[in-house]
Amino acid sequence: MSEERIMDLKRRVYSAAKDEGARVGMERTMEAFEESTLHIDEYVMEMARYVRDLKAELRNRMLDLAMEAAEAMERNGMDVVIAHTRKEALDAVIDVVGTGKVIVKSKSMISEEIGLREYLEGMGNEVWETDLGEFLLQLSRGRPSHFVVVSMHVPREGALEVLRRKLGYRGPPDVPRMVAAVRDFLREKMLSAQVGITGANAVAAREGALVQVENESNVKLTGSLPPINVVVTSIDKVVPTLLDAIKIAIVESYMLGGTPPTFIDVVSGPSGTRDIEHRLVRPAQGAKEVHVVLLDNGRSSAAGSLLGETLRCIKCGACQLACPVLTTVGPSWGSGAYMGGIGVLWTAITKGFEEAGPLSYLCAGCGICEEYCPMDIKISDLVWEIKRMASAKLEEELGVADS
Ligand code: SF4
Repeated sequence: MSEERIMDLKRRVYSAAKDEGARVGMERTMEAFEESTLHIDEYVMEMARYVRDLKAELRNRMLDLAMEAAEAMERNGMDVVIAHTRKEALDAVIDVVGTGKVIVKSKSMISEEIGLREYLEGMGNEVWETDLGEFLLQLSRGRPSHFVVVSMHVPREGALEVLRRKLGYRGPPDVPRMVAAVRDFLREKMLSAQVGITGANAVAAREGALVQVENESNVKLTGSLPPINVVVTSIDKVVPTLLDAIKIAIVESYMLGGTPPTFIDVVSGPSGTRDIEHRLVRPAQGAKEVHVVLLDNGRSSAAGSLLGETLRCIKCGACQLACPVLTTVGPSWGSGAYMGGIGVLWTAITKGFEEAGPLSYLCAGCGICEEYCPMDIKISDLVWEIKRMASAKLEEELGVADS
């Protein structure tokens, strides 16, 4: 672990600590979070326990289940690639997309993990994020500070400033008016795009179906308005049945706001109709092609390791909103896609210990994250282990290790 990485992290954290706007944004988000998650119904917690036990049981057969899901999705008319590495995933997407396209894209931590937007732009495409928070980050070249509320560090004043500067917004500093301006801008992009890229919250192996949970309706539109839909997701999200997948969607949304999701979308093939003489004709109203990339990138090898229990994570983000460090320093405590204590663990799985080591030093070890985790992941203990390993390596590099 190089000292350079530690210095870089220190610089980012110091400058984040001085960012008054980010602190205001995070404080406001925290207040709203505390009010909205005081009571989570027992029936949701029962579902959470079911999901936790199921995911613990599935951890050692993720690849088999991914293959079962891939076969079922292909039977349903989708093209599927199981990508073992980041490069394989990017190759699979570019094979479908090519260059010179207008692409709309919904929020997905897997696409952040592989740097998909930057890669597609580098290959000569125009890419637009359709989730409002991601769109603000795209315009301001920012990094996500949370799995779900990606722009929790951007207060309304910051959103106004970026929309004025980058979108030419001339309206009042009024949130509904700003949201309407973004909606108009993005609707035009969605209607003209040749490709829509989406993610998935869970994948059902038996039915070969993708489950997406959302509130903005941008995922639905991104996946169905352009003629081609590419779904980029990961193998740890595959569960045996559609009912299991929907339970994950429900738990995930309740954990963050104490409310049901506005939309749960199920995609199990390209759009089509059999309304005339019961003959299948594609497309109907939605995408005519659906391509799916199921990413491994370290997950299957982590299953039997110290980090294995991390694979139960459903990325609800409850632990992140509870974390006193993350909600102070924001996205500076992260590796792009993954931030906070749970982010240290995902970074170790997807990028290795070298990258995760310096990030582990920011964990205060208070353990509050664990109280909020519906999957009972021992986040603090695991981060502590990474910190211990990183320290041992650093001592060795500095020549101060015990002989
Ligand atoms: S570690 Fe637990 S609380 Fe945090 S995102 Fe994952 S499932 Fe949610």
